[in-house]
Amino acid sequence: VFDVSKPLLNRIVERLPKALLTAVSDVSFEVEERSVYALVGESGSGKSTIGKMIVGLLKPSGGNVTIAGVDFFNEDDAAKIDKTRSDLQMIFQDPYASLNPRWRVRDIIEEPVVSRGGKGNGLAEKLLEQVGLSAADAGKFPHEFSGGQRQRICIARALASEPKVIVCDEPTSALDVSVQAQVLNLMSDLKDDLGLTYVFISHDLTVVQHIADRIGVLYLGRLVEEAAPDALFDDPKHPYTQMLFAAAPKMDGFGREVEPPKGEIPDPINPPTGCAFHPRCPIAVDRCSAERPDMRDLGGRRVACHLAE
Ligand code: SF4
Ligand code: MG
Repeated sequence: VFDVSKPLLNRIVERLPKALLTAVSDVSFEVEERSVYALVGESGSGKSTIGKMIVGLLKPSGGNVTIAGVDFFNEDDAAKIDKTRSDLQMIFQDPYASLNPRWRVRDIIEEPVVSRGGKGNGLAEKLLEQVGLSAADAGKFPHEFSGGQRQRICIARALASEPKVIVCDEPTSALDVSVQAQVLNLMSDLKDDLGLTYVFISHDLTVVQHIADRIGVLYLGRLVEEAAPDALFDDPKHPYTQMLFAAAPKMDGFGREVEPPKGEIPDPINPPTGCAFHPRCPIAVDRCSAERPDMRDLGGRRVACHLAE
């Protein structure tokens, strides 16, 4: 359960430049065990911020993240927090940046275990085979691998501590399209084999269409629609979700590219009043700039729009 009930501004934390942080408020969702919850939105929508909060890399100024009953940020029992932390892993977009170039693959993969006082004992070799690489790759360095292979190494490292939940932040966005599908398939297989739960972050609805059990669409730090993939793809209810579909590369009947949607994304730190989407919304009414729409349950899906019904 993820619930941030008070508006919050992330402080500039550690080395993160301000541009990477986004105000997130009133975002509340549940992720079922062994399912894939996709968080989709444009850059600045707050999806990475939420992902980092789920794994404890960022602390929300309000609200909570509850993992299997442990309220991560409000729990006092250090042993519980430590256990929960080891149940959580994150995979990032850029497999180049997230692997230490001076370390051998074995040391990279086993680091989460060794740093907690454990021993490798052939763990890297086993995990390399599990992610479709070879045991002999353990002695190599990251530069000896392609982008897709490096992301497989990142996945192996994430699996080393036997996590239950993995937050995947655009794990395939930096990869060639053909490689993307292979990595997605691998992740899907691993999820089934190991009983994993994913929070899968993407700017691209089509990437999450097949892997997600539930999709949450974010706009400027708020959830605007949540539904199962089929419902969302067949009949997107929120005007922003409809705009996201329109923005996906499409050809008209004459082979011409369809115009992308108009309008700038406003500053997430100072979002527009009322419905934050109103300056870009093609069907906005007076009420939209004055009153913020609540998330409403429309039977199997949730939508935050005054005109959703
Ligand atoms: Fe558009 Fe109004 Fe709905 Fe917001 S609340 S999405 S501005 S119609
Ligand atoms: Mg991001």
